[in-house]
Amino acid sequence: MQAAIGIDIGGTKTAIGLVASDGAVLATTSLPTDLTISPYDMVDRIAEAANRLMAEKELLPADLQGIGIGAPGPLNTKLGQIAEPPNLRAWWGFPVVDAFKRHYDARIVLENDATAAALAEKQAGAAKDADHFVYVTISTGIGAGIYSHGRLLTGSTGNAGDIGHMVVDPAGGDCPCGQRGCFEHIASGTAIAREASVMLGRPVTTKEAFELALSGRDAAMDQLVQRVFRYIGIGCVTLINTFDPELIVIGGGVSQVGAPLFDAVSGYIREHALNPSGRRTPLVPAALHQDAGLIGAAALVQTHY
Ligand code: ADP
Ligand code: ZN
Repeated sequence: MQAAIGIDIGGTKTAIGLVASDGAVLATTSLPTDLTISPYDMVDRIAEAANRLMAEKELLPADLQGIGIGAPGPLNTKLGQIAEPPNLRAWWGFPVVDAFKRHYDARIVLENDATAAALAEKQAGAAKDADHFVYVTISTGIGAGIYSHGRLLTGSTGNAGDIGHMVVDPAGGDCPCGQRGCFEHIASGTAIAREASVMLGRPVTTKEAFELALSGRDAAMDQLVQRVFRYIGIGCVTLINTFDPELIVIGGGVSQVGAPLFDAVSGYIREHALNPSGRRTPLVPAALHQDAGLIGAAALVQTHY
């Protein structure tokens, strides 16, 4: 049996999986991403964990199709390096592909995590039948993977789809990137919790902000949530006008809120997308959650993307 190792490196944890060539997830594990040790040592730990999975499944190095890595951007896939991800500071400039080459004599492919998750939705999720779609993740931050004309659109260095820093409201406050009113600064889970906490004068989680808003008991929270839905609508309309997708897939923790978000954003799209077919673009929830990152990472070496 042939299989690929999929690795999804995140700011808090790294998910590792073995995925068979038919797409079946054979085994998974995860490690805390330890930012206090050298990234080389962290790569050693990841390789050790992956090798344990291989041994469990009685796979030999010759059975390995390759190693796919999804990592937060900014990165540089041309150089095989992590660039400057805010939540992975210890890894800035780290040559992650070369570090894995010390462990494997196999093909190693690096893409940004949202791009890998988009490929997972194409392979095994909500976008199986689409040749043109955008996967948007609304979580701690906001990012996207773009699939167009039957291929991933990665850009020259793997950073295409970094829509979190697309300005949707220049009056929306200072984003750490230096611009004002970036999509992620005003519509991510982090932004909702931050705004809600300021408004209520105490720490409020994103989930609680939604619960208060949707219970109809808190008009201020309701306004905040409706504003966020409108910003997400603005972001989606720009993606529709730019890429003309057949559908938009929404994933990430905030999408768990479900129908209220999907209904409000679809409503905005129906009113504001420029072309008549764009106004009917379906907005669908991601089908893969936990394993999307590693399935997509494995798919990077299993498919021609
Ligand atoms: P990560 O950003 O690490 O990939 P997630 O995709 O789980 O993690 O996104 C985390 C964000 O989603 C947090 O801001 C969290 O508050 C928010 N979130 C998680 N679950 C829910 C939920 N059920 N409803 C609303 N927001 C949620
Ligand atoms: Zn920004």
